[in-house]
Amino acid sequence: MKIGVLALQGAVTEHIKSLRQAGAEEVVAVKRKEDLADLDGLVLPGGESTTIGKLMNQYELMEPIREMAKSGTPMFGTCAGLILLANRIHGQDWAHLGVMDALVDRNSFGRQRESFETDLTIKGLEGEPYRAVFIRAPHIMEVGPGVEILSTYQNRIVAARQDNLLGTSFHPELTDDVRLHQYFVDMVRESVKLNS
Ligand code: GLN
Repeated sequence: MKIGVLALQGAVTEHIKSLRQAGAEEVVAVKRKEDLADLDGLVLPGGESTTIGKLMNQYELMEPIREMAKSGTPMFGTCAGLILLANRIHGQDWAHLGVMDALVDRNSFGRQRESFETDLTIKGLEGEPYRAVFIRAPHIMEVGPGVEILSTYQNRIVAARQDNLLGTSFHPELTDDVRLHQYFVDMVRESVKLNS
């Protein structure tokens, strides 16, 4: 099993570390389109979605990643990564990858709450509540019928899944709790099994 982490901006090494802790066998940083070859899964980290989107276009990564998402490769978008996955962005008439049937609002928790931590209940994670770190976080305002809501905070959707696509408003790579990375590694393992 080989999982890539898009390495154009953001908390790349933290994601790589969490994926390894969660049992991923091989984890690689993705900077050029050649790095996408043989990937069984891809993580899109947080950062600034407009900047990452521009760099993805510049390095000719947008189209191949979109095709991989459409053909069923598991992808995990965190924070800006979730914005990259969404097919609708509040207040703008274009999207980035546009593969997840969701309307996202950027920077939706207000300026006075630039960053905060809170305990969440997340569907599919057993045991104690999940401590989530939000940094200028987006939230999902609406989802299409194929999207499963995994968690909400103050009536806002902050984690969701559509088949092979997983997205969170917060940063799971910034805490020691690797249960969400584990959840994603399980998605990848499942998909590898189906395709072998
Ligand atoms: N608000 C940022 C954006 O619009 C995302 C913030 C983050 O990834 N921490 O891209």
